[in-house]
Amino acid sequence: MNENFDNLGLIPELLQTIKEIGYTIPTQIQNDAIPLVLQKQDFIGLAKTGSGKTAAFALPMIQRIIQERIKGLVLVPTRELALQVWEETVKFSKRVKINAVVVYGGASMDQQVFKLQQNPDIIIATPGRLLDHMRRRTVNLSQTAIVVLDEADRMFDMGFRDDIYQILSQTRRERQTMLFSATMNDEVIRLAKRYMKSTQKIGEETHIPLDKIKQIYYEVEREFKPHLLLRILQTENPSLAMIFCNRREDTERITEYLNKYGMNAVCLHAGMRQNKRQNVMEDFKQSKVNILVATDVAARGIDIKNVSHIINYDIHENPDNYLHRIGRTARAGETGKAITIIEPAEYRYITEIEYVIKRTMRKGNVDEFGPLLEVRFERHYQQNRSFQRQGQRYGQGGHRPSGHGGQSHGGGRPRFGGNRNRR
Ligand code: AMP
Repeated sequence: MNENFDNLGLIPELLQTIKEIGYTIPTQIQNDAIPLVLQKQDFIGLAKTGSGKTAAFALPMIQRIIQERIKGLVLVPTRELALQVWEETVKFSKRVKINAVVVYGGASMDQQVFKLQQNPDIIIATPGRLLDHMRRRTVNLSQTAIVVLDEADRMFDMGFRDDIYQILSQTRRERQTMLFSATMNDEVIRLAKRYMKSTQKIGEETHIPLDKIKQIYYEVEREFKPHLLLRILQTENPSLAMIFCNRREDTERITEYLNKYGMNAVCLHAGMRQNKRQNVMEDFKQSKVNILVATDVAARGIDIKNVSHIINYDIHENPDNYLHRIGRTARAGETGKAITIIEPAEYRYITEIEYVIKRTMRKGNVDEFGPLLEVRFERHYQQNRSFQRQGQRYGQGGHRPSGHGGQSHGGGRPRFGGNRNRR
């Protein structure tokens, strides 16, 4: 492990910039990756946000680009990460001549086309938008000889697999490909085998400190979920909580509902304007608001310390996603709490999570929160309700999976549930 950046092979201009930025000791991933990038090797970097991975690939990539007059491409899963990587790249390029552009969905196509016409040295992009440009022939990747796939596991989770494959096949055949991922999975290995010269690994797989996260779940019918959430927040009084919903509309409705009852909540989803999203993240990072109600997409790649509570207002059907969510608490040696709310027909997701985390989750007693009020978000559920009625008529609605030690919620309450149509 190097004590400073001097012996990693970086040119003086970059070393000077690093000094000015204030980095003195390279992180593990920087120590391992920088020499490999300069040696033009392919590798899988197991590293998560916060490990210093951006500098680990951006610094040597900039160096190779100016020395060899080649082009670079960084693919990232979200706009936030795209902007973050672009900002860092611009910072590192202060003393060298590098033109980096950022390209992501939801922003003006024309402006991006204009910037792409300047023949940039580095393109930082989300896969969907880049593919749009490729189809319109407003980008040309034939000179792209360095490719970074950042947060590859997340990109696969988000369904970008085919986009990535298409994009890679348009870049130079003799290229350097680096893949960064917090976790190894089959998709990552498959991509590496197909598109990389080497599958050598550096870094360590993200370890989520499960022992430090108190995990509990509550089961309740859907129309009681908002009030249960409110009661949980009133009881737990979290210093900083992230609440995950599966749908954008729900992040908005839940935020509105919580604020109506005196909570200090903001919502974050991918449908919001970019500068609004950035402001929201800043406010949450600085604890100006203590409750962030978000979809997974919006929250991805964001490194926030001191999150005391993760609340899964909706459970996600992919257990990896559950792990990713709860991994946002208990950072840097702290402890955290992960609370999951499920509807009766969703118990099987708990079983799947328990299998992945290799431990059983405690089931909380909803009755501890007193009588729960029914809350319906009318407009949103109108569409689903006709489906529910159908489901009930055909005997699909709201039955509890067998073998499940459920609890009673008291007599007379209407029961809905098991609408799988909305995911
Ligand atoms: P990243 O994992 O690339 O998102 O980086 C996480 C944070 O660590 C960023 O705010 C970087 O500016 C910072 N950082 C990266 N490398 C170093 C380093 N060697 N020393 C101190 N801070 C660093």
